[in-house]
Amino acid sequence: MHMRMTSQREIILRELQDSHQHLTADELYERVKKIMPRISLATVYRNLEKLSEAGIIGKLEISGRQKRFDSDIHPHDHIYCLECHRVDNIEFDRNLVNPTAVASDKGYRISGYRVEFKGICSTCWAMLNKREDGDKQ
Ligand SMILES: [Zn+2]
Ligand SMILES: [Zn+2]
Repeated sequence: MHMRMTSQREIILRELQDSHQHLTADELYERVKKIMPRISLATVYRNLEKLSEAGIIGKLEISGRQKRFDSDIHPHDHIYCLECHRVDNIEFDRNLVNPTAVASDKGYRISGYRVEFKGICSTCWAMLNKREDGDKQ
C-alpha cells in the first residue's frame, strides 16, 4: 500500500525506528516534540494509527495496557516486564502452536492469535533481590 509521507509522519516514523523500543504514543510524543515543538499528541497518535493501518509499523495491544508501536514488522512476539513495563521482542517456534487445531472445536475460523509473555526483567529482578537483601539486615 502506498501512502503519502508527510514530513510529520516521516519524523514520527524515524523517531520510532531510532528508539529501538516499543513506545506508547505518549512516549513518542515526548521525543517528537523536541523536533517539532508545535505538534500535538493527537497528531502523533493519528499518524501512528495511519502508519500501522498501512502496515509500515506494528501495533502492540498488551492486555490492560496502553498501545505500543513497533517499527519492526516481521512476525514476532513480545515479553513485558510487570515491574517497569518495558517490552522486548521474543522469538519462539510458532510451529509449536497450531491455532486452528486449538480452537477449531469452538466453531471459529481463526484469523490470528497473540502470544504474550510476561515476567520480571533482569534489571528489575536484580533490584528486587537487592531490596530483599536489605530487608534482612
Ligand atoms: Zn523491568
Ligand atoms: Zn516488537
